[in-house]
Amino acid sequence: MTLSETADEKLAHPSGIKLDNISKRYGDLVVLDDVSLHVQPGTVNALIGPSGAGKSTFLRCINLLERPDSGTIQVAGHTIEPGKTVNGRDLAALRRTVGMVFQSFNLFPHMSALKNISFPQQKVLGRSKEEADERSMQLLDRVGLKEKAGEHPGRCSGGQQQRIAIARALALDPSIMLFDEPTSALDPEVGLEVLAVMRELAADGMTMIVVTHEMQFARDVSDTLVVMADSKIIEQGDPSTIMSDPQEARTRRFLRAVLER
Ligand code: ADP
Ligand code: MG
Repeated sequence: MTLSETADEKLAHPSGIKLDNISKRYGDLVVLDDVSLHVQPGTVNALIGPSGAGKSTFLRCINLLERPDSGTIQVAGHTIEPGKTVNGRDLAALRRTVGMVFQSFNLFPHMSALKNISFPQQKVLGRSKEEADERSMQLLDRVGLKEKAGEHPGRCSGGQQQRIAIARALALDPSIMLFDEPTSALDPEVGLEVLAVMRELAADGMTMIVVTHEMQFARDVSDTLVVMADSKIIEQGDPSTIMSDPQEARTRRFLRAVLER
C-alpha cells in the first residue's frame, strides 16, 4: 500500500474532511476560487485571514449550509458533487456528524439552557426527554455550567451562552466541529472560558476547523494553520512556522494587523 492510499483512507474516515477544487460565487462576486483542503481525523485546523476572504462561506460549504458551484466535498462518509442531489436523510446525517458553532451563539431565547441542549437530541436523534436531559446535564457539567441548566440564555453572559451553544452542538455526538469566530463577539477574558472548552475538545481528539483571530490559541492548539485571502487558501502548514516566517505578503499583513489589535 502506498503512503497516499493510507492518507486517502484516513480522509474517508467519518471524521476526515476532503475538499477539492471548491468554487463559489454570488452573482459576479467570486467568494471561493478553486479551494482545496484535506483535514486528517483528530486534527485541529485554525483558519485565519482578513474579513471578506471567504472563510465563513468555506465553513458553510462543509456542512452544506451552502452548495459550492464546483468541486467535490467528502465529509463524514458522504461525497457531494455539484449537480448531485443530496437526499434529506443524507443531509440530516451529515449535519448531525458536523457540529457548528457561530459567532452569534444562535440559542433558542425562549428555552432554558437545558432545553436548548435537550430539544435537538429529541428532535434529531429521537432520544427520550429523560435520556436527552441526562446527556445535557453531563455536557453542561463538561462546559462548567451545570448551575445554569434552568436559566434562559438572556440571563447568561456571552461566554456562558457560547459554552451552552458548544454543549448543544456536542449533544448530537458529532465527529467534526466547525467554529466560526466563536470568541469574536466576546470580551477577551470571557473568550478565554470558551477557548478553554475548545482546548479540552481538541485534547480529546475532536476533528476541528476553527476560524479565529486568536493567534495564541492557533499557535498552541492547532496542528495546521490555514491562511485565506481573496477567495483562496494562500498558505498552510505548521502554525509556529507560518507565524514566525510567513511566505506571503498578505499573511504578513494580516498577522501584523491582528497582533497589533
Ligand atoms: P469571511 O468570513 O472571510 O469574512 P465570507 O465568507 O463571510 O468571508 O464572505 C466572503 C464574501 O462573500 C464577502 O465579500 C461577502 O460580502 C460575500 N457574501 C457572503 N455571503 C453572501 C451572500 N449570501 N450573498 C452575497 N454575498 C455574500
Ligand atoms: Mg466570517
